[in-house]
Amino acid sequence: MTSAVVAGIKVYMKNELKKYSSRRREMVKKQIASRGVTDPLVKSAMSIVPRHLFVSEALVDSAYEDFPLPIGEGQTISQPYIIAEMTQSLNLKGHERVLEIGTGSGYQAAVLAQMVYKVYTIERNNTLFLQTRKLFDKLKYHNIVTRYSDGTQGWKQEGPFDAIIVTAGGQKIPSPLIEQLSTGGRLVMPVGDNLSQELIRLEKTEDRINTTNLGACRFVKLIGQHGWNE
Ligand code: SAH
Repeated sequence: MTSAVVAGIKVYMKNELKKYSSRRREMVKKQIASRGVTDPLVKSAMSIVPRHLFVSEALVDSAYEDFPLPIGEGQTISQPYIIAEMTQSLNLKGHERVLEIGTGSGYQAAVLAQMVYKVYTIERNNTLFLQTRKLFDKLKYHNIVTRYSDGTQGWKQEGPFDAIIVTAGGQKIPSPLIEQLSTGGRLVMPVGDNLSQELIRLEKTEDRINTTNLGACRFVKLIGQHGWNE
C-alpha cells in the first residue's frame, strides 16, 4: 500500500471515531449517569468507544439508543446501561487483566480495553469470532486477545484474572471461572433460567466468596460444558 493510501485510511478512521461523539456524550449522561453509574473510568470509556462500528450498517443509527441490538447469529449486544452497570461492578482501576466470556460484537471488550491493561475474550461462535477479530485489528485494539473456544472452561494458561465478565446467562457460575479468579478478584455474570436472570457479582477473598445481586436482566444463553446444552 502506498503511504497516501495508508494516510487516507488513518483520516477515515479518525473521522469514524469522531463521528457521533455528541450522541455518545448524551448516551452517557441520559442513560448511564442518570441511573446512578458514577465510575469515571466507565463513563469516559463509553464516551470514547465508537459503538456504531460494532453493529451492522443497518443499525448504525440506533447504536446509541437505550436498548439491546441484534448482532447476527441469534445473539445481541446489551443495552448501554447494562454494560455500564456490569463494568462498574468490576471496580477496575487500570492495571488489570480481565477475562470476558462471549466476545459477540466486541463492544464490551472494547470498553474494557479502553480502561485496563489487557483483555482476554473468548467466543464459541466461529462466525462472530472471525468477524470481531478482524474488527479489533482494523480498529487497532492491540490490548485485546481473542480465542475461539468454550468460555465456560475459562482460559487456564492465562489465569488467574483480576476480573471476569460473562456476557451470556447460565444456571450457575462455571466453577473453572471461580478457580481462575485471583484473590481479591471480581466476577459478574447473569445467573438464572433461560427466560430471566439476576446479575450476580462475586468477590473472591482469601477465605471466602461473597456474592451480591445487582438486579434482574435478560441475556442470551451461555452454552458449553459448564453452561446450557446446545
Ligand atoms: N459481549 C458481547 C455480547 C454478546 S452476546 C458484546 O459486547 O457484543 C453473548 C455471546 O456469548 C454470543 O456471541 C455467544 O455466541 C457467546 N457465547 C455463548 N456461550 C459461550 C461460551 N460457552 N463461550 C464463549 N462464548 C459464548
